[in-house]
Amino acid sequence: MLNIAVLGASISGLAIALRLQSSGHQVSVWDGRRSFSASNAGWLFNHSSLAHLRELGIDLADMTHRITSGEQIPHHSKNAAAHFESISTHGIRQQVLHDRLLFKLGTKNIHLGAQFDEFQPQQGYIVKSARFLDGREVFADLFIGADGVDSKVRSVQIPGPQLRPLNIMEIRGTTTVPELPRELVKSFKLYENNRLGMNVYLIPTAENDISWGLQIDLNRHPLKEFHSNGKLNEISASLSEFPKLVRRCIPASSLANGQIRASKDQEFPDRFHRGNVVLIGDAAHPLTSFLGQSIDSSLEDTQVLGDMIDDLSRGNIADLETCFTDFIRQRRPILRARQRFIRNQESALKGHLAVKNQNSVVTL
Ligand SMILES: Cc1cc2nc3c(=O)[nH]c(=O)nc-3n(C[C@H](O)[C@H](O)[C@H](O)COP(=O)(O)OP(=O)(O)OC[C@H]3O[C@@H](n4cnc5c(N)ncnc54)[C@H](O)[C@@H]3O)c2cc1C
Repeated sequence: MLNIAVLGASISGLAIALRLQSSGHQVSVWDGRRSFSASNAGWLFNHSSLAHLRELGIDLADMTHRITSGEQIPHHSKNAAAHFESISTHGIRQQVLHDRLLFKLGTKNIHLGAQFDEFQPQQGYIVKSARFLDGREVFADLFIGADGVDSKVRSVQIPGPQLRPLNIMEIRGTTTVPELPRELVKSFKLYENNRLGMNVYLIPTAENDISWGLQIDLNRHPLKEFHSNGKLNEISASLSEFPKLVRRCIPASSLANGQIRASKDQEFPDRFHRGNVVLIGDAAHPLTSFLGQSIDSSLEDTQVLGDMIDDLSRGNIADLETCFTDFIRQRRPILRARQRFIRNQESALKGHLAVKNQNSVVTL
């Protein structure tokens, strides 16, 4: 069995830690945050992710909303709406998934306030320990970088071009309604308005919860003014150009409490690994967009890499290099397809491109 240090304790980090711990590996998890803060975001994730989580001992069936259809609706009728029919996906709040992973894993081997800083090399690209800004250090056979889009692990061990900001900002939140609107029962909606430079998505994530997000083109809504009341009022007023359903689901008060995050360019690094360090989740493949299936991608990484590390430790895979190379060979094609899909969406938001029906790309 291997001694494994996971750097980053969000969905990817917790899921891989749980997966590896269940095979008997000795796993520790390290995160820069001082505490786990609550997230209001909610996303789609597919049925196979739910099944994978069940294998890890987490049953979320009664904490998600089953979704069987969806619509991507452009503002201009000349752009065709995309209908997602007979899909098998679920709406879930990120916090629910995070809390359940944490509960199952237990907090014994999770170290907070540990901001990864550098590796101590042993030989070539093989590292013997990771050091944190507060002076702590962890020794391990294998290091997994699950530290998100701005991954420090990636920049230290697998340097490549920096990710560019996309000039797209997201405001996200969740609203609880007395009764789920009929249009959202088992269905998600994505409304696009490239004249305003704004998309709005609505996802039912539990019985009466609707998670929503606004994707905003910062070329038309500059960042520096974003936190001002005036700008929020302006954005709130823009919602009147969307269907009534949007205004029902995103009252002005919940907009003010929304979480704000910037999207980065989704360029993948050339490699996901070097020596005994491997990247997973957003650190490896930033797919930070609605319909980008980032959560699915993180959980798939967990499944594939977990199986390969088990095979490695049982002697069924010759060495670490083969293990990680096979991992990437399996993962790249589907990740690339999702990347293409997201880029197309972002171009559409900025008014560069008519949205086409892209149903076939996503395996929702
Ligand atoms: C703007 C935006 C919009 C998104 N929209 C969607 C969406 O609509 N649908 C969807 O499926 N997904 C979306 N995502 C992606 C989703 O947030 C992630 O896929 C999901 O949270 C899992 O990511 P992760 O665990 O790989 O990384 P993250 O959630 O980013 O977690 C990284 C963890 O690493 C820790 N960390 C960072 N640096 C260090 C360090 N130096 N040392 C130690 N710890 C560190 C952080 O504290 C954090 O806990 C979006 C992401 C962004 C940024």
